[in-house]
Amino acid sequence: MTHARLSLHFLLLLLFCCSSWTQAAVLVSIKPIHSLVAGIMQGVEDPQLLLSGGQSPHRYTLKPSDARNIQQADLIIWIGPEMESFLPRILTASERPNIVLLDLLKIENKTSHNHDHEDHAGRDPHLWLDPLLAKRVVQLIADRLSLLDPKHHGSYEENARTLQQRLDRLHHELESRLAPVRPTPYIAFHDAYGYLEARYRLNSVGTVILDPERLSGARHIRDLQQKIRHTGVGCIFTEPQFEPRLVESLIEDTATRHAELDPLGSDLPAGPDAYFQLMRRVANQLVQCLANK
Ligand SMILES: [Zn+2]
Repeated sequence: MTHARLSLHFLLLLLFCCSSWTQAAVLVSIKPIHSLVAGIMQGVEDPQLLLSGGQSPHRYTLKPSDARNIQQADLIIWIGPEMESFLPRILTASERPNIVLLDLLKIENKTSHNHDHEDHAGRDPHLWLDPLLAKRVVQLIADRLSLLDPKHHGSYEENARTLQQRLDRLHHELESRLAPVRPTPYIAFHDAYGYLEARYRLNSVGTVILDPERLSGARHIRDLQQKIRHTGVGCIFTEPQFEPRLVESLIEDTATRHAELDPLGSDLPAGPDAYFQLMRRVANQLVQCLANK
């Protein structure tokens, strides 16, 4: 291609491409993180959300429209291979090797929580469920956005500060809301709540499934039945992303209650408020079931 043709090509791009063509296209994998990114980018641009429905990222298979969104992204913000195991494959096959990836699990290495649950693959990818860890996630994302789009550095920084103050307030609210139910033993559906449990010192005694990508074995089910019968488990939680039938059969003929917890806020409208709504709802669902109100 000659220099003149290249310039013409560029001019055509300027004329016919989207009005905000200089703006980087930001794609976020799951709703809670998308919500934080939308808060940081408020007044600048709206980030795209990859998993907008009620699917579990642990078991997700990409649709052709997802593949198109991924190909058009400049920056993809995801947790890491422990969460969105479907993503590395498509990125390896990508025709655009310059897509920037922001792996949020990078910050997790610096934070340890003493919860002795078995992680999906060593690192616990559910890091948004601790509002104080979310503050660091917000900083990491704001820094990366500023690097990619220095023109809006001021907006990203200011939005991030506002968001971090809001997260602080949420943390204090959850702390007092969850305090009364701290000692009550419960069983969560999958091992998603390690950060929340460590931050608010909750008493989780196990999970219904050990690995979100596989079915539980008969031995694990027997162990759960023992726990439910002998340790006074107050509540066992289902999740909208998983089939609840196993839970119903586990608590048959026992006094253990069941309720739903949704760590992803599947049914909430995406946007800056989704994160706060989903965290408050998780806390309320825990309190209502554990306090038996
Ligand atoms: Zn999970």
